[in-house]
Amino acid sequence: MPARGVDSATRCVIGVDLGGTKTAAGIVDAAGTLHATDSRPTPATAGAAAILATAVGLIASLLAQARDAGLEPVAVGIGAAGVIDARDGSVVSATDSLTGWAGTPLAAYLAAQSGLPAFAVNDVHAHNLGEHWQGASAGAASSLLVAVGTGVGGSLIVGGEPQLGARAVAGHVGHIASPYAYDDGGVALPCSCGRAGHLEAVASGPAILDLYRRQSGGDAVSARDVASRAGAGEPAALRAFSLGAAAAGQAVGGLANVLDPAMVVIGGGVTAAGDLWWNPFEAALRAELMDPLAGLAVVPAVLGGNAAVVGAAKLAFDRLAPDRGAPATDAPSAGDTSSATDTPFVQENSHA
Ligand SMILES: [Zn+2]
Repeated sequence: MPARGVDSATRCVIGVDLGGTKTAAGIVDAAGTLHATDSRPTPATAGAAAILATAVGLIASLLAQARDAGLEPVAVGIGAAGVIDARDGSVVSATDSLTGWAGTPLAAYLAAQSGLPAFAVNDVHAHNLGEHWQGASAGAASSLLVAVGTGVGGSLIVGGEPQLGARAVAGHVGHIASPYAYDDGGVALPCSCGRAGHLEAVASGPAILDLYRRQSGGDAVSARDVASRAGAGEPAALRAFSLGAAAAGQAVGGLANVLDPAMVVIGGGVTAAGDLWWNPFEAALRAELMDPLAGLAVVPAVLGGNAAVVGAAKLAFDRLAPDRGAPATDAPSAGDTSSATDTPFVQENSHA
């Protein structure tokens, strides 16, 4: 195994955060220090082969940088959009934001291409692993992370392990019912999962933008645009943010009652709106909490855009650790890439 017999001070992992708009990667050492990062646009609609090729290119570039710097890469860790089966690192299902992504044997392919063991997990779990290792929830016995951005996702870590569920679906906070996810006529708002009335349909960035446009007729082009209008005091923009924030807060408060995490960490692009999002969010959250949870710490994520890169690297270090037994995905030798590359890795996206 490449992980054994390597000076621990020079061991590193290439961490990858593969999202719907951007693929980011970085060199992360065993102490959690990020040595270099790089990113490229994700060719989201070009199919799995193109998405994988972008990741492979980034990984190759960072592997070369790491070796030039005297570091010894020992694995690749990937946090990726979609439902990821972390046992074999394959993509179980994905929304239409990544065309043809479902069915991709992600970790096996990147292992074959890099010649290193590779491990994959859903990107929100990677985000939580990063914050739990180096960020807002470092040292916490358990942590619920909720990310509110283009979508709404979540992850619960207990004892250092993200809780993946029986079918790798655990954490999909965006797809629970919300009483806020209805239009003025009482019709449930459509959700990215194909259902309606879910949290993501009212709390995500695109949902806040839609709400603002519906209610004001305003010409904002992004949630960030709505945030700046809200910051300038425009009532319709403030209402759209307050409603999305309150919906998220109510849902996270309910989850805290169910899960009783040691702490809650909140990340994602929508939270960059600051107090105009955070204040209605926290008020709605705390209104839900049962009495023993009154002192629950609810804090912003601190690692920003690098959280999932760092967390994906942590996943790989953990899976390589001798006390964890054999890794779930065995890398072929560097010269043997035939088995994975000969396997068709693009399957029909069966996700509704
Ligand atoms: Zn949904």
